[in-house]
Amino acid sequence: MAEVAYEIGNSLYVNVTNRCTNSCVFCIRKTEKGVGYDLWLDHEPTTQEIIEALQKKDPLKYEEVVFCGYGEPLIKINEVVAVARWLKSIGVKKIRINTNGLANRYHGRNILPDLKGLIDVISISLNAPDAKTYQAVSRSRYGEEAYQEVLNFITESKKYIPEVIVTIVRWKGVDVTEARKVAERLGVKFRVREFYGN
Ligand code: SF4
Repeated sequence: MAEVAYEIGNSLYVNVTNRCTNSCVFCIRKTEKGVGYDLWLDHEPTTQEIIEALQKKDPLKYEEVVFCGYGEPLIKINEVVAVARWLKSIGVKKIRINTNGLANRYHGRNILPDLKGLIDVISISLNAPDAKTYQAVSRSRYGEEAYQEVLNFITESKKYIPEVIVTIVRWKGVDVTEARKVAERLGVKFRVREFYGN
């Protein structure tokens, strides 16, 4: 059975959807190993189902709870907000979201105010130092326009979320130094992720 809540190290991950607006070349959904759990959901879990899956794992045992999964969690903004509110109410210390930064485009509105006071850390996939490279590796449904959307999302995130991190995956043709400069210009933390898929 597919996992809605799963543990990696001291973090408890929440898998809320398999849908995504990108189709990245390095997406773990395409690798054989994935993250070591079956994350292919047979249906989109409701808020209640997500909370029940988390209750079974005792979220207070972990350093952080991370909305991540095999898809883009902010596609399910209403469920993420409701579950994050519940997590805060039981005393979870830290809540993080890993996102592709395209949720505002997807929903056609600014969803970041919804996350204020609930999400402590947001990790946004920058993926590249420019729009052309971004589209080559991320293969967004929005084409090269997606890159500017991500930059806008990063800038907007700083208003509502205490810690904003942007990431790239080390990948052929992606200039890490240039990507780092973009992060510096935006005034956010920068992290390089290694690709371990196969
Ligand atoms: S944004 Fe994330 S979930 Fe979506 S295709 Fe890229 S790596 Fe996979």
